[in-house]
Amino acid sequence: MSSRRKFIKKAALGSVAISSLYTYANKSNKEDASTNDVLTTNIKKKPIIISTWRHGLAANEEAWKELKNNKPALDAIVSGVGIPEADPNVRSVGYGGLPDREGKVTLDACIMDKNSDCGSVSFLQGIKHPIAVAKKVLEETPHVMLTGKGALQFALEKGFKEENLLTEKSKQSWIKWLEKSKYKPVINIENHDTISMLVLDEDGNLYGGCTTSGAAWKLHGRVGDSPIIGAGLFLDNEVGAAAATGLGEAVIRTAGSAMVVELMRQGKSPTEACKEIVERIYKKHLNHKDMAYLQVGFIAVNKQGEYGGYSIRPGFNYAVYDDEKGNRMEKAASKIVRK
Ligand code: ASP
Repeated sequence: MSSRRKFIKKAALGSVAISSLYTYANKSNKEDASTNDVLTTNIKKKPIIISTWRHGLAANEEAWKELKNNKPALDAIVSGVGIPEADPNVRSVGYGGLPDREGKVTLDACIMDKNSDCGSVSFLQGIKHPIAVAKKVLEETPHVMLTGKGALQFALEKGFKEENLLTEKSKQSWIKWLEKSKYKPVINIENHDTISMLVLDEDGNLYGGCTTSGAAWKLHGRVGDSPIIGAGLFLDNEVGAAAATGLGEAVIRTAGSAMVVELMRQGKSPTEACKEIVERIYKKHLNHKDMAYLQVGFIAVNKQGEYGGYSIRPGFNYAVYDDEKGNRMEKAASKIVRK
């Protein structure tokens, strides 16, 4: 089982169940950060790019190339996260993403710039690059968020091509899920990882983007945290930027990324800020002992180029690219550690 698979397992939805259930593989975790990874505060020079998960490596590579070619940071983000969006083997983002319970691939994405201008699309179907549509929303509309058919209509008007995003592989996974679950709440193993990218550019300005196919087997119409400014992504160019991955409902409930940025404003390091919000989320879910599926990970970067991440459960990692060390994976510390 890959580490991403270990990160979150999902449960099938009941026929009328509202909750999207996740479950986590390792039941032998204990609650204790003390023996976990050191809370490192890494001071780096600008520019720096940080993206969630291993698919962040390829995304960073592309975004870095664009930044170094003096392309605007928003374009670098669109090109960077566009790599996993277009990759059928990344089954949690864009083309090839796992569908909802109706077999429909529905996508969420958002983007934000140094001026706090933002654009977002949710419940978008048939468009391979929702992040690029979100950028158009930012640049060419007076709105922040377009959803569903309206978002699709807008995308088509802007020249995006409508295509089938359900690959044969994802269709087969869905068919298998249907057979096994019969729409009963049976535990289903699934990986699922949003790509969120944060950029501190050469001039010291912050930008961010986030794109996902959301929770697999979700109810048709479910929207997660990823297109919601303040939840899946937030930045304040005076302070820092943060982004989330994991159980979207938990992140929305706590305005997760916005809170991480606010804590950095109060002087916390990125890792400390991520840790405090992870702990808040954990505490607010009073039934967390029964919520083996409760997993959330944050990444954050501040104006000084310090960065960090933290998650509820182990297994969360992120890709970091800077001039000093190049592009590499870093492991986040977590509230719960394996024995
Ligand atoms: N946050 C995403 C959602 O809830 C899922 C993920 O990042 O794994 O849609």
